[in-house]
Amino acid sequence: MTETAKNRFRLKSFGLHGFILLVTLTVLAGSGFAGDKEAEHANDHHTAHWTYEGDNGPGHWGELSPAFVICKTGRHQSPVDIKESKKADKEIAYKVDYKASPLKIINNGHTIQVNYAPGSTIAINGKTYQLIQFHFHHPSEHTFTGKDYPMELHLVHKNDKGELAVVGVFMSEGKENAAIKTIWDNLPDKVNVEKSVPSVNIDASELLPEMDSLFIYSGSLTTPPCSEDVSWNIVRSHIEVSKAQIDKFTSVVGKNARPVQPLNDRQLQESKKTVTAP
Ligand SMILES: [Zn+2]
Repeated sequence: MTETAKNRFRLKSFGLHGFILLVTLTVLAGSGFAGDKEAEHANDHHTAHWTYEGDNGPGHWGELSPAFVICKTGRHQSPVDIKESKKADKEIAYKVDYKASPLKIINNGHTIQVNYAPGSTIAINGKTYQLIQFHFHHPSEHTFTGKDYPMELHLVHKNDKGELAVVGVFMSEGKENAAIKTIWDNLPDKVNVEKSVPSVNIDASELLPEMDSLFIYSGSLTTPPCSEDVSWNIVRSHIEVSKAQIDKFTSVVGKNARPVQPLNDRQLQESKKTVTAP
């Protein structure tokens, strides 16, 4: 990152200060784990303002608020380095049933997020989760045998019990991506204000590579409050985006990747079989 970019990033970070309540509530509400009490508690601490570098960066998240302590003490944190691993003993079946959604985008100061209309699902071994939103990281948060990709897509799903399943897709530099173009062409001007573009539809299935093989592990949110028991599903295949598309994201958001975390007692498993809906 250049010095200018760093300064811009800092300025942007300070600009976020006024939005901290909103960001905290959004993150907590979105996590499906934290209740109102926890959100209020986090709000008591003005230090709950977090960033991707400097004094409020990933190495300090756990100290910024009691609500974020799991970022430091958790043993099942994300992201992790993806390595070749044992194939699952039992078949793991994925059934993706995504429908197009009217475009709703928010720049929450940490990423560009597309909020998805109800009715799109993924079933993992018969357990069904709704797609609620997807968003992006630069560079990738997960690494593959030690190497990162320019970007990573996270499709966040939630089931009726509030349990989260995230599908992670690596994004490499290559051809322009039409679905990403639709999103980038409609980026909001303001931070933390959702922009609705009802005339434009987005279909998340166009952002999926071939779901031939996925790496599975139990991890966490990669942003504070770093809540655990998130089912992670990282697709082995990747999608392409152009250099201009990567640069566009970088100019708006900057770097937003938490470093990889230790696996500890966890094991990655590679799925044996996947099924996509017709
Ligand atoms: Zn993410």
